[in-house]
Amino acid sequence: MKTIGLIGGMSWESTVTYYQVINEAVKSELGGLHSAKILLYSVEFAEIEHCQAVGDWDKSADILSDAALKLEQAGADFILICTNTMHKVADKVQSRISIPLIHIAKVTADILKQNNITKAALLGTKYTMTQDFYKEKLNEAGISVLIPDEASIEIVNSVIFDELCRGIVSEQSKRKYLDIIDELAKQGAQGVIFGCTEIGLLINQEDTALPVFDTAQIHAKQAAVLALSD
Ligand code: GLU
Repeated sequence: MKTIGLIGGMSWESTVTYYQVINEAVKSELGGLHSAKILLYSVEFAEIEHCQAVGDWDKSADILSDAALKLEQAGADFILICTNTMHKVADKVQSRISIPLIHIAKVTADILKQNNITKAALLGTKYTMTQDFYKEKLNEAGISVLIPDEASIEIVNSVIFDELCRGIVSEQSKRKYLDIIDELAKQGAQGVIFGCTEIGLLINQEDTALPVFDTAQIHAKQAAVLALSD
């Protein structure tokens, strides 16, 4: 079995999901007492969020690259950055290590294609929804992306940073998210990407008729598949 390197803590609330989903996938594949080999480097999220807020992506790339290198030195066979937003610096991190970095948007695009989705709604932080680094990976896979209007972008973003990343799950915010998803479905979205690893803590497939693609689940399951492959 390969050793999975996780750069987590962004936020730690969603890193819990990764740990659980990876181990459950390995258990369901191998049974018995089997579990995943995981190395976790959990960062100080306030430092990362500050870099995002002031636009110092170079500094955050240095922090994540340092974490990735330590995971590589400790024996990780491949790396996951357990957040969509910080994939803004994924290419820089990959260029500084010699093991593969499993890109969250690329594995998500693969699953969308398998489900014949060519037009998807994207929910995530304001960086993920409004900047190109994430949407371009989906576009390259032939998937067009719908994002909410400006006021809704603010709502989605503030629920992530002010609530979900702090462990707050509110019924009111869930309602707001579902209204935003309904609106994007009306605009022609065939599915909705939870392009933020905390969104699955708030809503899931049972809450909406639109097919849901939860990036934390997809990314973590792919890590288990890779860990068990030759
Ligand atoms: N975990 C979130 C994401 O997937 C947001 C936290 C962050 O800004 O990294 O984008």
